[in-house]
Amino acid sequence: MTAASAVPDAAAGRGDAGSRDEPAQPTAAVREELAQASRSLEQATPAEIIAWAVGRFGSRLTMATAFGPEGCLIIHWLAAVAPQTFVFNLDTGYQFPETLALRDRLASRYGVAVSLERPEASVADYERLHGGPLYRTAPDRCCSDRKLAVIRRVLVGYDAWMSGIRRDQSPDRAAAAIVGWDHKFGVVKVSPLANWTKAMVWDAIVREQVPYNPLHDRGYVSIGCAPCTRAVGAGEDERAGRWSGMAKTECGLHSRG
Ligand code: SF4
Repeated sequence: MTAASAVPDAAAGRGDAGSRDEPAQPTAAVREELAQASRSLEQATPAEIIAWAVGRFGSRLTMATAFGPEGCLIIHWLAAVAPQTFVFNLDTGYQFPETLALRDRLASRYGVAVSLERPEASVADYERLHGGPLYRTAPDRCCSDRKLAVIRRVLVGYDAWMSGIRRDQSPDRAAAAIVGWDHKFGVVKVSPLANWTKAMVWDAIVREQVPYNPLHDRGYVSIGCAPCTRAVGAGEDERAGRWSGMAKTECGLHSRG
């Protein structure tokens, strides 16, 4: 049995159809079948995993990217097999200009126009509503409103999404499966680079001459929204520049809670 045939139709396999507030959850059988597919893809290359996801989910597959090197690499491989795949970015209104310019460079190189998906409220309206920005005083609320609410809206109508997370990025991500059920959003999540290292990613970026964010050459390692990202020094953790000085380490897209 191939990995692809091991996974049943995601929508049909949901044990609980869920609701806007309670995401769909899979049956035990679907969980096991996804785990089997994930195990069988552990030794596959990212390009093979992407091709598997495209073959398995077709137009019900989407991809989210914050334009990190991992996302740019996935677009590089995805463009070779399914450039029509809907790829989106959560455009909070607080991203660096360099990040948004990278969208155009990727579109020009690969013909993949990443859709900028925005919250309902503009930054100006949002800050007016809350008496100023929330990223310092209530960053969880800010991420919830400007990222999580948006991805929930976008994922309606899809069975699976791809992300560029790697297990070695943080303890939160250490258990990421190649293929698994995303309990937070009620769809299948595919992480083609889960078992890659940062060095492997950059080797591939350089080898394949994939466009990347120029901020990486200025000390920014992990890049999110401008107010919540700083450059890191030698020896600092890869994600030390995100929400620096706060207890927060994740925006919530990739954590279970
Ligand atoms: S990363 Fe910062 S600015 Fe961006 S949504 Fe989260 S708290 Fe808001």
